[in-house]
Amino acid sequence: MANISEAEIREVVSQVLNKMQSSSTKDWDSTHYGPHKFIGIYEDMNDAIKAADTGYRAVRAMSVEQREAIITEIRRLTRAEAAIMAELGVTETGMGKVEHKRLKHILVADKTPGTEDIISNARTGDSGLTLVEMAPFGVVGSITPSTNPSETVICNSIGMIAAGNGVVFNPHPNAIAVSNYAVDLVNRASKAAGGPDILVCSMVKPTMESASVMQSHPLIRLLVCTGGPGVVRAVLSSGKKAIGAGAGNPPVIVDDTADIAKAGKDIINGCTFDNNLPCIAEKEVFAFRNIADELISAMLKNGAYLIDSAQAARLAEIVLVEKKDKNGKVKKIVNRECVGRDADVILAKIGIKVSKDIRCIICEADFDHAFVQNELMMPILPIVRVDNIDQAIELAVKAEHGNRHTAHMHSKNIDHLSRFARAVETTIFVKNAPSYAGIGFGGEGHTTFTIAGPTGEGITSARSFTRQRRCVMADSFRII
Ligand code: NAD
Repeated sequence: MANISEAEIREVVSQVLNKMQSSSTKDWDSTHYGPHKFIGIYEDMNDAIKAADTGYRAVRAMSVEQREAIITEIRRLTRAEAAIMAELGVTETGMGKVEHKRLKHILVADKTPGTEDIISNARTGDSGLTLVEMAPFGVVGSITPSTNPSETVICNSIGMIAAGNGVVFNPHPNAIAVSNYAVDLVNRASKAAGGPDILVCSMVKPTMESASVMQSHPLIRLLVCTGGPGVVRAVLSSGKKAIGAGAGNPPVIVDDTADIAKAGKDIINGCTFDNNLPCIAEKEVFAFRNIADELISAMLKNGAYLIDSAQAARLAEIVLVEKKDKNGKVKKIVNRECVGRDADVILAKIGIKVSKDIRCIICEADFDHAFVQNELMMPILPIVRVDNIDQAIELAVKAEHGNRHTAHMHSKNIDHLSRFARAVETTIFVKNAPSYAGIGFGGEGHTTFTIAGPTGEGITSARSFTRQRRCVMADSFRII
């Protein structure tokens, strides 16, 4: 599997997509890794939850060593099949970059914490011993996005299983095949490592209705939602314990002490990673006026294409469309046909033909420009000129819209760096590096694809999916 050829990858992808056109799980087999049916995929959410509960009971009965053996196998299969999931994800959703998606899967396999993240605490004193342990919740209901679909399924599965939970997924309707491929991968890993055949579950056709069954089902003890503001709001108002990983609009400040050539390169690398789909990716730049030209020219040397304000206005009409909300209020939302698309494909929509080497569209913009204010999730990067650090911080904080998600800065002035970090209050703050350093890709620390700003768990890991339990032994077991 490690040396799978491109032709074989395409064959598997086409097989999986063809089979999944059928709405019956009976047809969801794949012959690539030996004929078998996709495991753990249900037509009814109630059945999926029941099966996930059986998986949970099996995990409860396991030793930590057994859980870790399953996780080790998930990591191995994820590395081995990263190229398949990358190709499948791009083919199914039409979004992102195959090579970047492959790297994201490897990152998940290598840097998602396992059972080592679950740590017990003991306190002893004159009154004896008190133990605090991180216990599982039970069955976790997880809603996953279209932007990092299988990455989120695998990352969540590793953390949730490490914590001793069962999991049922309601994947994004635009990314069912790749999400369910990942669910099946986790189940194959479980079986191969001596765990239950069905450890995690999902839906043939996940919908808002199946999500709402999940949200009100008595067996679901924790909801984890990774997605845009609508779905996070819905889950947080469910009445259950919920972890919300919501939208961002990460600003970048570049001041005149930064290494401008490096800043230009890092920003373009971060902004274009998987065509800007990661919620942490650079979305708008605030550049000191005295270095803005130099920054733009550094970006142009790194695959950016500069459009003028008239072209930007035309593009804005295409990448943002008007939609009425349920109160009849018209608001701008991103055009799904443009999300995660290549820069040359987006430029072609306004009649500009460029080569595939162009990976980012940049433009100068005012603070009020739609490109600055909206989370586009495509390789378009507006640059706003600012006079000084006060103005840069004020505007960058406003553009982040209080999401408290992610912000970036390129500077060598520690006062500037500290001031912005304090003011913006984001879960992730990256200094002098591309955005992905913030999730452990070229930066220290573990990875996650569920960054829970609104509910405060932050860079989630196994311990985020636990509840604390205390066990007290009065007057004994202090051995000093
Ligand atoms: P989305 O918001 O379109 O959908 C997410 C999931 O929620 C899907 O399964 C969808 O069907 C479902 N859904 C949507 N509204 C729902 C509702 N009211 N009730 C139940 N289910 C509902 O997400 P997307 O377009 O795939 O992802 C993009 C958004 O997610 C961006 O805003 C991005 O910033 C955010 N995101 C955040 C993180 C994070 O870790 N904080 C990670 C990835 C994506």
